[in-house]
Amino acid sequence: MRIYFDHNATTPLDPEVADAMLAAGLETFGNPSSVHHFGQRAKTAIDEARSAVAALVGGEPSEVVFTSGGTESDNLAIRGGAMAAAAAGRRHLVTAGIEHEAVLNTVTALGKHGWTTTVLGVAASGILPPDRLREALTPETAMVSVMHANNEVGTIQPIAELAALARAAGALFHTDAVQSAGKIPIDVRGLGVDLASFSAHKLYGPKGVGALWIRRGVRLLPVLSGGRQERNRRPGTENVPGIVGFGVAARLAAQRLDDMGARLAALRDRLEAGVLALVPRTAVNGAGPRVPNTTNISVAGVEAESLLIALDLEGIAVSTGSACSSGTLEPSHVLKAMGLSNDRSQSSIRFSLGAGSTDGEVDHLLEVLPGAVARLRALTDRTR
Ligand code: PLP
Repeated sequence: MRIYFDHNATTPLDPEVADAMLAAGLETFGNPSSVHHFGQRAKTAIDEARSAVAALVGGEPSEVVFTSGGTESDNLAIRGGAMAAAAAGRRHLVTAGIEHEAVLNTVTALGKHGWTTTVLGVAASGILPPDRLREALTPETAMVSVMHANNEVGTIQPIAELAALARAAGALFHTDAVQSAGKIPIDVRGLGVDLASFSAHKLYGPKGVGALWIRRGVRLLPVLSGGRQERNRRPGTENVPGIVGFGVAARLAAQRLDDMGARLAALRDRLEAGVLALVPRTAVNGAGPRVPNTTNISVAGVEAESLLIALDLEGIAVSTGSACSSGTLEPSHVLKAMGLSNDRSQSSIRFSLGAGSTDGEVDHLLEVLPGAVARLRALTDRTR
């Protein structure tokens, strides 16, 4: 039995998506920029996908730009928006310490090229208190980038409130919505954001395809130079099968959103309650509103990487937020930004459920986990 509880890392391709991609690869092979039948057929396929992605997030099709994934969307939003704002004399960027590296490292990179940057800490809940943003904003602030839902703990930020503050200060607001799309309803207009990033492989679509939603009227310079594709915002011949797959995945996500959200929330709550009850000295990281599929739990006295390997040997795939750098394990930057101690961060495990997750899988985890933790704790106690 193999159990996959790592859907925030990536999701399996939906068979309907795979079928559509294969058909697009074989039959819709024209270059969408070509004027002839083959090209126009590919262009139509892309436009259908654009409409599906726009419908999932509450935007207009003309506001959706396809990219190579969440990372490129974040780069295009922040670099492209920042470069456009620089012309107006604004050279300050604000973000939060819990962001994905695609945002954090982009902001850091701009910081080395003349931009002033502010990285805000969050509360222990994982939420960015709007007052912290209010205090950080200046007349020079070009852009604020705060993610919708966090990939490690699942907490959902008060985006509408944060975006309103940025707007009042004359700054653009970008949200990385890679981890919320397909998990909770998204309405980019209702949220009041200017830019929002998405990635197909987090919602049962293919890897290497993403989208950036750009509110009509927002000025943005392209990051790549080349042809005139995607309304001059993202050059390069489009990945037609990937984009078609993203479109089908977005349509399916919209159809399944409510049912899947309710089912996964119940399953996640049962998993969480079970772990807390059956494994002593465990605690949930993050509080407040969360996406329904995610829980992050610290298991005191256990190194998370060892537990990950022990569970993998039992056929259960989970993840930790630790990053391996120069042979040592760095504690998760997200848990650190939430103020958790290194010890607690390094004993934290993420369970992220998905469309295929079942009650039986949660039961199996709850059977296996207490023993695995007890064995690791006994080992640590002996080596002390
Ligand atoms: N942003 C967040 C919050 C993510 O979780 C991820 C993927 O892990 C990304 C961005 C990057 O997306 P992609 O893998 O499509 O580049």
